[in-house]
Amino acid sequence: MKTKIAYLRGLMEGMQLPEDNNTKLLRAIADCLDAMADEIEAEETRVDMIEGDIDEINGDIDELDEIVGFLIEDEEEDPDETDWEDDFDFYTCPNCGEVVPIDEESLNDEADPICPKCNAKLFGD
Ligand SMILES: [Zn+2]
Repeated sequence: MKTKIAYLRGLMEGMQLPEDNNTKLLRAIADCLDAMADEIEAEETRVDMIEGDIDEINGDIDELDEIVGFLIEDEEEDPDETDWEDDFDFYTCPNCGEVVPIDEESLNDEADPICPKCNAKLFGD
């Protein structure tokens, strides 16, 4: 745009226009175009900067998306939420009839599980 206006100015000078009202008008228009070109250039710089910001924000959103994705995955894999019953066996207390969940790991420890309600040994003596 700038070069086109410079070309227009050169053309006007080259034509050796008479200093009349028409020429004044043409110069005024060329000045006006110059000012517009400056403003458009500044605007383009601003738009570039905004586009950069938007790219950055998009990057942030992508990161957040990833984090949220991980969080949701974590939640889905949380054994307390979904696989709770798979990790526990249920035993009925011989003393009070309470159904007690015992996870397989503590069974393998050869611990003597007791009923949380009446403290009787679940598997007797
Ligand atoms: Zn009991």
